[in-house]
Amino acid sequence: MALSYPFPTPPAAGEAHEVAPGVLWLRMSLPMAGLNHINVWAVADAAGWTLIDTGMQTADTAANWQSALAGPLQRRPVKRVICTHMHPDHIGMSGWLTRQHDCRLWTTRLEYITCRMLVADTGREAPADGVRFYRAAGWDEAAIEHYKARFGGFGKAVHALPDSYRRVVDGEELAIGAGAWRAVVGRGHSPEHLCLYAPDLKVMISGDQVLPRITSNVSVFPTEPDADPLTEWLESLAAIKGRISDDVLVLPSHNEPFHGLHERLDALIEGHERRLEAVAGELAAPKRAVDVFSALFRRPVGVEMLGMATGESIAHLNCLIGRGAAQREPDAAGVLWYRRP
Ligand SMILES: [Zn+2]
Repeated sequence: MALSYPFPTPPAAGEAHEVAPGVLWLRMSLPMAGLNHINVWAVADAAGWTLIDTGMQTADTAANWQSALAGPLQRRPVKRVICTHMHPDHIGMSGWLTRQHDCRLWTTRLEYITCRMLVADTGREAPADGVRFYRAAGWDEAAIEHYKARFGGFGKAVHALPDSYRRVVDGEELAIGAGAWRAVVGRGHSPEHLCLYAPDLKVMISGDQVLPRITSNVSVFPTEPDADPLTEWLESLAAIKGRISDDVLVLPSHNEPFHGLHERLDALIEGHERRLEAVAGELAAPKRAVDVFSALFRRPVGVEMLGMATGESIAHLNCLIGRGAAQREPDAAGVLWYRRP
């Protein structure tokens, strides 16, 4: 059985498609070669709209929003902005929208706080802990210089955040218009990722927690080198299967709306288990994080993707350590070597 896509044609910039009663699908462009769009959603609310996710801070996104607000959103007021998580393509324009419409940002606490923390890195020098982390993973000096030069880029893609927010907690019911939407929190891609589930409408807004055609990045970052986000990710996917019924139309942040939630969750879990096995298979002889890329990625990893690839690689290695299937030891230079116990 394959996933099915009842709305195969995405809306053009500034346009909207209704995918469920009162639920509009809009698209914002992203300035990235690999991933050129993010889906955002407008849900009819009392005398206006609740928007879910906002796009990255760019002039294009501002223009997209202006034509959407004047066109399919009929200049009705924006009552509230909900963000699934703190990545710039989701939260980037939240401050721009909430200030313009004098409304509030709603999200989970860790997404809001983590975003404030990352935005505050803009203008700072790359920290010694970060340099140590990537050297330990096996990076050479050219890669370290690239990291230092790019450090703090997060904040440039985020319009000044609102200085306060409304916290959403797992399990909470949000009333949007006549509909009840349940907050379902997942972890691993971001610290406290918010999905919204409307059982009556049979709709789930999945953010980056469940994507139909690509896999979400699950990474370890220098701020918490021993984190095990992959275990959290796998637990979250299994929990979602128990909490959200299989008959929903899933509205993901990338690609198209689809049916087949449980099948997709199973496939995502199986894919990571296969990759964990492949990485474990590499550890007969000691390896660094950068030495197991071939077990994880089909294509060679260039310098642009090195940070993400290293984060994913360490996520798989830390998960194996948690399962007792790997151990690691630093050498005299501080580089970490992983092998089977
Ligand atoms: Zn994301």
